[in-house]
Amino acid sequence: MNEYHEYRGNIHMHTTFSDGAGEPDALIESAARAGLDFIIITDHNVLVDQTREGWQNGVLTLFDIEVNDVNLRPEANHCLTLNVQEDVTRFASDPQQLIDAVRERGGLTFLAHPIDKPSPLIPDIYPWNAWDIEGFTGLEIWNFMSEFRPYVTSKRMAIVMAFFPQLFSTGPYPEMLAKWDEWLQRRPTVAIGGSDAHARVFNLGVLRRRFLPYEYCFRAVNMHILTPEPFQKNLARDREMLYEALSVGRCWLGYDMLHATEGFRFVAHSAHRVHHMGDQISLDGPVIFEITTPATAHIRLIRAGTGVVAETQGRSLTHETSHPGAYRVEVWKRRWFKSRGWIFSNPIYLNSHVT
Ligand SMILES: [Zn+2]
Ligand SMILES: [Zn+2]
Repeated sequence: MNEYHEYRGNIHMHTTFSDGAGEPDALIESAARAGLDFIIITDHNVLVDQTREGWQNGVLTLFDIEVNDVNLRPEANHCLTLNVQEDVTRFASDPQQLIDAVRERGGLTFLAHPIDKPSPLIPDIYPWNAWDIEGFTGLEIWNFMSEFRPYVTSKRMAIVMAFFPQLFSTGPYPEMLAKWDEWLQRRPTVAIGGSDAHARVFNLGVLRRRFLPYEYCFRAVNMHILTPEPFQKNLARDREMLYEALSVGRCWLGYDMLHATEGFRFVAHSAHRVHHMGDQISLDGPVIFEITTPATAHIRLIRAGTGVVAETQGRSLTHETSHPGAYRVEVWKRRWFKSRGWIFSNPIYLNSHVT
């Protein structure tokens, strides 16, 4: 059952059609240079042009929208709406209506940067505040771009950050992981990560510096998906496989700049078969989790609501259990002077057996 095919891509980014610095073609070129298999361009409140979707420069390129209510102050509640073949921005003023409208059209909704932190120099934040909602697909637990904002405490710090951004990325906020675990105790919730690449130029006194260029972002926090069939360079079919993997959570977040996460696997063996991330298992006996990573690191198996149930420093971990729950994996790896988030898997769900 290990015949799944792995693909790497980025699903949150901005072009000149909203507040990004590059034309779509520049993003596609950067993605190709970074070796990505797919990108989803998600400009703010504008569906750029889905007739331009397709395989370009070896990259499956799709267009979706990051929707928010532009009249709301502050402009909170950004939602990535994926796999909708129409402009859904007219539903922006009511997050539940937006989620429902996207779902009715077969699409996916991910709450973008739900926890967002300000800094003295950049006080504006865009968190998710409308938590009285249901029916969304998942949460963007790691937004690569917004993770930098709290560190912008002075101009000097901004300069250090512009030249050595890798020193600042450490992983999703702990509060974000706790929030995700809260939802996982209620229902399946897919986690995604996105670069939120804008590649804007900032003036730092006498210096002008493009902060987090597209190619840099595309080598950083990416999504790795597993598909039952290989991509065929067929837009309709490949697009469907990509969205299907994201909708069930057969995917993980990989901070590939730290070390390539390709080849990571998290499976569960039951008496009957091998199960993958996103799968729901009806428990009728013990299950053995098996985790393998492409390099030595600190592997933690986590049960939502309980915390770490097994951990090791190494390249593999196995753990047997008969307890229901949502089980997920975090892998942390030391680089650039500290332990940093490297891999965040989606869960395998063990449900009580119903007779
Ligand atoms: Zn946003
Ligand atoms: Zn964004």
